[in-house]
Amino acid sequence: MPRGGWGRQGFRAFSWICGDWGVAKVLRAAGGRRAYGGGVEVHLVPCLKDNYAYLLHLPGSSDAIVVDASEEGPVLAELERLGLTPRAILATHHHVDHVGGNEGVLARYPGVKVFGYQTDRGRIPGQTDFLEDAQEFDVAGIGVKALHIPGHTLGAVAYVAEGAAFTGDTLFAAGCGRLFEGTAAQMYESLNLKLGALPDDTRIYCGHEYTLSNLRFAESLEPNNVAIATKLAWAQAARDKGEPTLPSTLREERMTNPFLRVAEKDVVAKVNERLAQDRSPQAVLAAVRAMKDAF
Ligand SMILES: [Zn+2]
Repeated sequence: MPRGGWGRQGFRAFSWICGDWGVAKVLRAAGGRRAYGGGVEVHLVPCLKDNYAYLLHLPGSSDAIVVDASEEGPVLAELERLGLTPRAILATHHHVDHVGGNEGVLARYPGVKVFGYQTDRGRIPGQTDFLEDAQEFDVAGIGVKALHIPGHTLGAVAYVAEGAAFTGDTLFAAGCGRLFEGTAAQMYESLNLKLGALPDDTRIYCGHEYTLSNLRFAESLEPNNVAIATKLAWAQAARDKGEPTLPSTLREERMTNPFLRVAEKDVVAKVNERLAQDRSPQAVLAAVRAMKDAF
């Protein structure tokens, strides 16, 4: 991840214009990116090798939320550059590349609340709030809903606020996280039922810049999927310019993400020989995940 320039500059949240006319046409549209107006401002903070932390605040307010304080240096620098004061850290899960900056942020801003799932007690530094599934809370003037989405880890949480979902390492653009603690059945439910119940235009902010390699894998499963090919070309151009490929949208994920496409016949056909008696979508997801692990 090139740090030069864009780490300090930071990024306002941009995404593609979303309509019901399909990702291919969207990508061909001249200047097909725009800032989302209103609601919460989201700033991407590149951390470590390919992680993203996010800063959220209401326009005109200096109270901020940090999602996944991966690394204290870039997070503190961006808070300062933007003149923001953190009121809470929302941890998507306990892995150190997502919570490694918690103590540094707390040392600089004592009293910041740290939210995480209830079963991550003892694994998230500084945790003050122990969430249940579907719990709602307000912080920095922003209403947030926590969705428990086990699979990558057992205590993984997505934070949903103002039409955006912060999905950590569970749902990536065009991919999903490895099954370190949970099962394929849990990942299926988290991706396709819980996150899958959100509206199509939900912006997806995930924990890593893995989009290009995920799309290459997706293309290997569905070589005739125009949305995948088009997004791959777009993502390559974005990365060549050192720009992030996020946010995605749930609509784009439904068109390009193999882990949300486990009922598609092309995807099932690709993993067919790996399936025994069980041809459920959960079994297809397990097979696709195993292929991705070796890709
Ligand atoms: Zn992780």
